[in-house]
Amino acid sequence: MKAITVRNPWAAAMFLDEAPKTIENRTWKTAYRGPLAIVAGTQPDTTPEADLAWRLVSPRPALRVGAIVGVVELLNIHQQFTAECDCVLESHGGWARCTRLSAPRPMQHWVLGSPRLLASHQVFPYRGFLGIGELGAGISEALLKAIA
Ligand SMILES: [Zn+2]
Repeated sequence: MKAITVRNPWAAAMFLDEAPKTIENRTWKTAYRGPLAIVAGTQPDTTPEADLAWRLVSPRPALRVGAIVGVVELLNIHQQFTAECDCVLESHGGWARCTRLSAPRPMQHWVLGSPRLLASHQVFPYRGFLGIGELGAGISEALLKAIA
């Protein structure tokens, strides 16, 4: 299974029961579509931009760090400010932030669906990586069983 590393609070925000984060902002894209494991990075995002997200995820017990949080479906990727992009602050639970997040390079909006959070006893420590990576066969199989 493919995986990407996402820092908290953003990794945890993808699995909120109400209004989960369904857009991941990246500066790059991939042709891959399908199941995508989310690895919570070891370094949290402590910038002011993350304050609201921290408040949303903070009631959740023990955010995972350096471990797989769950699996989402990567449904599509589109570039911000294009005709395809209907992300505004009010849609996608406000997670797309097209209007504020203007990086030097245009952001790619990874559209995510079907978040499946691992139960607290299902622990998959995993060292993250840059870009999109491939989990080993053993861990992929165990992960699929855990979220089934
Ligand atoms: Zn968009």
